[in-house]
Amino acid sequence: MFDHTDWRDRLWSEVDQPWDLIIIGGGITGAGILREASRAGLRVLLVEQNDFASATSSWSTKLVHGGLRYLANGEWRLTRESLHERQALLDAAPGLVEPMDFLMPVYAGHRPGRLVTRLGLAIYDLMAGRWHAHYRGRAKVMNELPYLARDGLRGAFVYPDARTDDVRLVLRVIGEALDDGGRALHYARAESLCRDPQGGVNGIVLHDRLADRRTKVTATAVINATGPWSDRVRAQVDGAPRLRPLRGSHLVFRRADWPLERALMLFHPDDARPMFAVPWCGATLVGTTDLDHDGFPDTPPRMTDAEGDYIMAAVTHYAPGLGLTRDGAVSSFAGVRPVVAGDADDPGQASRESAIWSEQGLVNVTGGKLTTYRVTAREVLATLSDRLPALARLPADAPILGGGGDRLAGRYGRHAADVRALGEAEPIAGTPFTRAELRWALRHEGVAHLDDLLLRRTRLGLLLPAGGEAELPAIETLCREELGWDEARWLEECRAYRATWHRFHAPG
Ligand SMILES: Cc1cc2nc3c(=O)[nH]c(=O)nc-3n(C[C@H](O)[C@H](O)[C@H](O)COP(=O)(O)OP(=O)(O)OC[C@H]3O[C@@H](n4cnc5c(N)ncnc54)[C@H](O)[C@@H]3O)c2cc1C
Repeated sequence: MFDHTDWRDRLWSEVDQPWDLIIIGGGITGAGILREASRAGLRVLLVEQNDFASATSSWSTKLVHGGLRYLANGEWRLTRESLHERQALLDAAPGLVEPMDFLMPVYAGHRPGRLVTRLGLAIYDLMAGRWHAHYRGRAKVMNELPYLARDGLRGAFVYPDARTDDVRLVLRVIGEALDDGGRALHYARAESLCRDPQGGVNGIVLHDRLADRRTKVTATAVINATGPWSDRVRAQVDGAPRLRPLRGSHLVFRRADWPLERALMLFHPDDARPMFAVPWCGATLVGTTDLDHDGFPDTPPRMTDAEGDYIMAAVTHYAPGLGLTRDGAVSSFAGVRPVVAGDADDPGQASRESAIWSEQGLVNVTGGKLTTYRVTAREVLATLSDRLPALARLPADAPILGGGGDRLAGRYGRHAADVRALGEAEPIAGTPFTRAELRWALRHEGVAHLDDLLLRRTRLGLLLPAGGEAELPAIETLCREELGWDEARWLEECRAYRATWHRFHAPG
């Protein structure tokens, strides 16, 4: 993606020529817009203030899903769109987006009742265009999950959805946009908006946080895709706050402690909220919560003690046979959903649909889901067709991503063979990640800090005890070889990484 060590300098040398489009924000929303705009041949620049996918887009439940819950809320359009995009991603990027069966245990007194659930799943299947959901009796369920609570267990519904690695999805989308001529710069903050003489937004003041340099960058259109930050950016165009930031947290367990072949959908014993336990990257993650999060971004999200207890209450209720405790988890993570405020009191009822609107020429996009990023991107670009006629060249039927296959092909696209050629293919114990992937990331994926490598390019920091402390000596050698870090730099990176991990990812 970022093949030469001088890629930032080269980008800087062209940054002050006018762009068709500037996108502020390098999560999945910004990445998707970059991908589609580059497809249309626009001159487009994405700027991200931290690492790519370092905010909400790295802390999701990792599902590429139709969203049964949206169906239950009567959000038909969102469900239909999500199911369509789920299939498009499954077809286009196997190895990155993988089909996954979900098991929904049914207990005596189950709410919603069995009939309603069966009907809901039938509609879900019907909308997806294939029959898959079915019911399994108690004996089979107990055989598959001997640790499941048995009292009142009747059986389980099985239905299909899919999972991914959210960060790798963002990186692949950005990578393919770069192949089509798009440009992306991380650790580069849009500090303020610029105006044309009529007062319309026509650019940004860009601050490169790595090189500490600033410049004014202009464009025909500027898009605010900053997720939970979007009200902050909008304050500059006098936009009244519209967001309702909702925090969601997860715990991660080692697979050895919670073996799971298929995902579980569970209704929390206290309030019947749906929760998921998902086999992911050789571990099992469980969540999420759904709570108002005040004070963003000055108070970045982390799992609170109350949330940890709430998640564990569901775990011990449904899987008493595992004897899991919060201290036994390997990590935790929390993200903020950039949901648009509506009438609902209950956070769970707040719509996940995206919202797109313009203010003084600034195009804002917020809400939405990982799963439906392409739909959102195309809707955003459709609002710009007058200002950017070249968008008419956007092909309607291009595949959403450029192919996959096995795990490496899914994660690295056209670079998979190069990653394979590095050798070093032995996975790091307890994870699917290899040393070759670490080396590839250091060489070609714009790693600026240790947490970029351990929390995003790979997810070792979430999967290994104490954030991967035992692996650090081997990783130090790689960082010295590939990035030329000296001892002082390495120690500083370790200090910063440990502080981040303990603050945001310790399980207890
Ligand atoms: C707990 C949880 C679970 C979820 N689970 C799922 C799921 O399973 N499936 C699914 O489809 N969806 C899921 N979602 C929803 C999905 O994760 C989000 O909708 C999506 O990631 C939002 O992406 P975004 O790009 O809009 O925001 P973000 O990923 O937050 O990106 C915005 C970016 O803008 C950057 N930025 C802010 N200000 C500036 C500036 N001034 N200059 C430059 N950059 C700036 C930020 O650093 C940030 O990286 C979940 C969300 C949460 C919170």
